[in-house]
Formats: sequence, structure tokens, C-alpha cells
Amino acid sequence: MAPRKDRVSYFFDADVGSVYYGPNHPMKPHRLCMAHSLILGYGLHEKLEVYRPHKAYPQEFAQFHSTDYVEFLHRITPEMTDYYKDQLVRYNMGEDCPVFDGLIDFCKIYTGGTIDGAVRLNHGLCDIAINWSGGLHHAKKQEASGFCYINDLVLGILELLKYHARVLYIDIDIHHGDGVEEAFYMTDRVMTVSFHKYGDYFFPGTGDVKDIGERDGKFYAVNVPFKDGIDDAGFHKLFKPVMTKVMEIFQPGAVVLQCGADSLAGDRLGCFNLSIDGHAECVKFMKKFAVPLLVTGGGGYTKQNVARAWTYETAVLLDAQLPNELPVTEYYEYFRPDYLLKPPVNTLIDNGNAKSYLQAIKNTIMENLRAIVHAPSVQMHEVPPDSYIPEVDQDDLTSPDERFSQFQKDKMVARDDEYYEDEYDQDHDTEEPRRHA
Ligand SMILES: [Zn+2]
Repeated sequence: MAPRKDRVSYFFDADVGSVYYGPNHPMKPHRLCMAHSLILGYGLHEKLEVYRPHKAYPQEFAQFHSTDYVEFLHRITPEMTDYYKDQLVRYNMGEDCPVFDGLIDFCKIYTGGTIDGAVRLNHGLCDIAINWSGGLHHAKKQEASGFCYINDLVLGILELLKYHARVLYIDIDIHHGDGVEEAFYMTDRVMTVSFHKYGDYFFPGTGDVKDIGERDGKFYAVNVPFKDGIDDAGFHKLFKPVMTKVMEIFQPGAVVLQCGADSLAGDRLGCFNLSIDGHAECVKFMKKFAVPLLVTGGGGYTKQNVARAWTYETAVLLDAQLPNELPVTEYYEYFRPDYLLKPPVNTLIDNGNAKSYLQAIKNTIMENLRAIVHAPSVQMHEVPPDSYIPEVDQDDLTSPDERFSQFQKDKMVARDDEYYEDEYDQDHDTEEPRRHA
């Protein structure tokens, strides 16, 4: 019997929510349990296929990352940091990217979910794959960066490139998607489009509109730099026309959408004024193109808003309607005082994006995109067959089929009651923000 196709495959393992970056660190993986709990509370799991992701193997990490860095991540524990000071400096680990208990398992799970989603999309086993635990877009080939260790997005895109001639990456996190852009900066097979805050030394400092890719990748990196306080209207004044044009000229076989929620108003590290509706509008807009879609999380440092946004975006991907009153879940008190899915937006930050500024950015980007149409070297309609193995994947790893048989997939369909978690984050985000990522 042919395997049944899911409309939406959803990947989650509660173990990602139990790791702790440290008492003063803004990244709280517990937000993933809060989001999942709200998704269950609204009953959305009844419309999804829920899978527990496989734990990614070192060889899978090494498809992008250097083997010495991968080995180090497997070896290092909090107790050993005094003995490995040089290596910690070399791999950019310390304050922003601390060594914590369970670090490597955390990486294996969030990366496994993104790769599994790509594999299911490649095999036509779903239309949409969701991994809110993934989206760690800053990680580099041989170093950690901005709370990210392994770049699951790069690995997911490499997986998609085995079956698709062109893959589009879109990033709506407030921070520039630098790790993904850098990985594919010189190829025309992956177009990266990042919408982010740029300027004032905001992390990571890259993502100027002038950065457009190099060599074969020239014009295939698109950067949309905003200033503080961008609102829904301003954001979509660029997002919609730019993405329409990109879809028209690039015609990707699959789309990866990183939905970092630190671009929401009121984020602990962010400085944008997007509402949950405005953020989710990006998801709604991309879904309409009906191209295989891999959706991940990313940043997001006001936990209750992260949970709200990703729950609502799950509903958007399912075409489900949700009442604004939140269901009672184990984390209900986090959503005080209103207990609403979409509380009124509190815009505390002035919008520094003048109409003329947005228009100028749009003009520059549209002009760059027009250059692609006239680029003689790009053949837009040649899609390789399924067996095609792209140049970027030279390793002799086991094929997706061997690694991930239907039998294993079926075994991974977990019971709903396995997903209730007892742990409770104690620190309630009382510390002052002091870092960026
Ligand atoms: Zn971010």
C-alpha cells in the first residue's frame, strides 16, 4: 500500500524544552513546550500528523559543519570547560553560546526535525512540514553564533537540494539569517531572502541591501534591512511584492520559511512592532503558492508571545480557525492578564522606517531581481530527476530511504498523551536583556 500523505507533518520532542542555557540567558527552550502545549490545548494536533524527530547523526551535521567542530560539540560538557578554554574560544562558545547539560542532544533533536521534514517533503509524504524547534540560522560551518550551534536550516536545505533544483529560503526573524546566507552565498540553486533589523550594531551586523551574493550566487542573496519599529503595513509593503517577484523568477521546488518570533512587538531582544497577525501573514502569503513548504521556528525571547505566534501560525498552515480566548493549559498563567491568543499590540518603539526609505529599498531589490531574468547562465526550467545528487552533497551518507523507512516513520507517530510535560521554567524572564541573537 502506498504510504499515506499528510497535509501537514509536525515534528516535536519534549526533550528540547528541558535544556537550560543558563539563568541570565534570554534563550529559553522551554518556550517550545509552551507552544506545543497551546497547540494541543486548541486541539490542532487532531489535524496534524505528529512525529518525534530522529536524533541527527554526527555524519549528518558534518554535511555542513567541520568534523572537528562536530566532534567538539559531542565531547564538551559543562564540567570540562576549564580544560578546553582554547577550543571554546576557537568555536565561539561562551557567553552567547554556552556549554550546557544536554547540548548535543538538543542539537540532534532540533536538527533531526528539520531534516525529517525535508525528507518527508522530498518523498511527497506531506505538503507542509513544521519544526518549531528548528531555525537556528546563525550557526556557522566551524563555529557557534547567536545562541545557535548546528545550522539545521542549512542541513534541511541540503536535503531538499537532493530532490529540487532550486530551494528558496525566507527568514523573518528580526536578526539577519547570516549563517544560511553565507552557506549558499555563491550558488544560484538556493536563494536566500532575509527581512531583518539592520544598523546600530544590531546583531549580527550583516545583511546590507548591497549584499547580493557572489559568483554564481550573484543576485541570489536578497537582504531587506529595516530600521527599528517596523509595523505590519511597512513590513508587507516589501514582503509581498518582493516574495511575489522572487517566486515568479526563481520558481523554487521547495520553500524553507524561518519564522523567528523576535520580530514581534514586545520581544525581549527585538525592536520591531509586528503583530501576531502581521507575522503570520507571511506564513499565509507563502502557503498560497502551494509549493512544498518547510516551516521552522527561530529567535523569540518573550516566551508567551512565541507560543502564541507559533500556535496561530500552525493554525494558519492548517486553515483552522482559533478562538481568541486561550484554552486552559499547564502554562495558562504565563498569558496573563488577558489570556488571549492575540492581545492588543503594545508598540513602545517608534517606527524609524520612513516611506521614502522603504521605497528606496524596494526599488533596489526589484532592480536586482530583474537582473536575474536576464542572466544568461541560469536555466530556469531544468529540474533534475529524483535520483539526481547535487554537487553540494558529496558525502556517501545513507540515502534518505535507508535512514528513514516508512516503518520507522510509522513507529514514530506518537500518542498525544506522551506530549504533556511537567517541567516548569522557574525564572519567568525577570532578568534584563543584555545580548542579541
Ligand atoms: Zn533572532
